[in-house]
Amino acid sequence: MIRRIAVLAGDGIGPEVMDAALKVLRRVDERFKLSFEFKEALIGGAAFEKYSAHFPEETRKICSESDAILFGSVGGPISEAHLEKWRGCESNSILALRKALGLFANLRPIKVYPELRAISPIKGEVIGEGIDILIVRELAGDIYFGEHRTFEKSGCRYATDLAEYDENQIAAIGRVAFETARSRRKKVTSVDKANVLATSKLWRGVIKEISQEFSEIEYEDMLVDNCAMQIIRRPSDFDVIVTSNMFGDILSDAAAVLPGSLGLTPSASLNAERFGLYEPSGGSAPDIAGRGVANPIAQILSAALLLRFSFGLEKEALSIEDAVYRAIAGSARTVDIAVEGESALSTAEFTDKVLSHI
Ligand code: NAD
Repeated sequence: MIRRIAVLAGDGIGPEVMDAALKVLRRVDERFKLSFEFKEALIGGAAFEKYSAHFPEETRKICSESDAILFGSVGGPISEAHLEKWRGCESNSILALRKALGLFANLRPIKVYPELRAISPIKGEVIGEGIDILIVRELAGDIYFGEHRTFEKSGCRYATDLAEYDENQIAAIGRVAFETARSRRKKVTSVDKANVLATSKLWRGVIKEISQEFSEIEYEDMLVDNCAMQIIRRPSDFDVIVTSNMFGDILSDAAAVLPGSLGLTPSASLNAERFGLYEPSGGSAPDIAGRGVANPIAQILSAALLLRFSFGLEKEALSIEDAVYRAIAGSARTVDIAVEGESALSTAEFTDKVLSHI
C-alpha cells in the first residue's frame, strides 16, 4: 500500500529541518517497508518567487492527492515585511490550507525531557521525571469565528465578539481527546469557564456526556484560570487537556515555553475524516535560517505524529520518538538546547545522531 505524503517545506529554516525529517522518514520506510511516496511542493514566499502566489494551484493539487501533509513553516523576516513576497504570506498559505482542509482539531504535545531540564524556565523539582502533556484545541469554532462588531452608542465606542459552539463541534473534539488518551496515560482534563460563559456550560455538559463512552479514561473539569496556574505549578499532573479555540490558543502557547525551545514542539491538525497536517509549532526563524544550525526535532516529531495519526503506524512513530530521545540522552544538542559547556551540533549532525538510533 502506497502512502502519499505532500511535503511543503516553505521558507526560512523550513527546508533545512524538512530535509532532516525526510531523511528520518526514509530510514523508517527502509526499516519497516512502508512504501512512502513523497511529493514536494512550494508554499509561502518560496512559492511566490516562482508562481507569484503563496499557495499555487500545483501545490493545492499535490495536497489534494496526498494522504497527509508534512509542513515546514512560512514567512519572512520583519525587516522585509513590506515586500510583496511576504505580504499576506501566512494567511494566503498556511491559514488558507487549514481552512480548505476543514481542520478542526489541533494537537500539540508538550514534552520536557529530564535531560533538558536546564533549558526549561521552570524549576527542576517541578519537572521531576519529565512532563508530557497533549493539548487538544478546537480550531474551527468559538470567538474567532463569530460576528465581530465595532459601533458607537451615545458617543461611546463599543466592540463585541460573538463566541459560538454547537454540541456537535464539542462532541467531535471531545472524542478526539478521549480516543487519544487511550494510548497515553488515560486522563483527560477538560478546560472551560463554565462558572460564567454559556458556551462553556454547554462545553462542560457535552464533554461529560462523551466521557461516559470512555469509562477507562479518568476525566476532570478545570476552569481556565486555574489551568493557567496549574500548567506552570504542576505540569506533570496533566495528560490530555481538551479545550476551546481561544483557551487552547493561550494555554498551548504558555505550555510551549516549558520545554525551553520552539525547536522542540511538533503539532498535528486533523479534519473530520482524520486527514492531517503536521508542522512544528514555531515559525520560519529567519534569524538563524541558512546557517544549518536549526533544531530539527519539532519537524522530525511532526513526522512521527503523521505516522501515528494519519497512518496508524504506532510502532514506527515510537521508533522516531525513541530515536530523538536517545540522541538527547546521548548528549546531542543543537545550539538552542545547549547550555554552557555543551558543544552544539549542526542540523545535519544532529539528524545523523537520530538516524543512528533507528
Ligand atoms: P519563530 O518561531 O520563527 O522564531 C522565534 C525564535 O525561536 C527565534 O529566535 C528562532 O530562531 C527560534 N526558533 C524557532 N524555531 C527554531 C528551531 N527549529 N531551532 C532553533 N531555534 C528556533 O517566530 P517569529 O520570529 O516570530 O516569526 C518568524 C516568521 O515565521 C514570521 O514571518 C512569522 O510570521 C512566521 N511564522 C510562521 C508560522 C507557520 O508557518 N505556521 C508560525 C509562526 C510564525
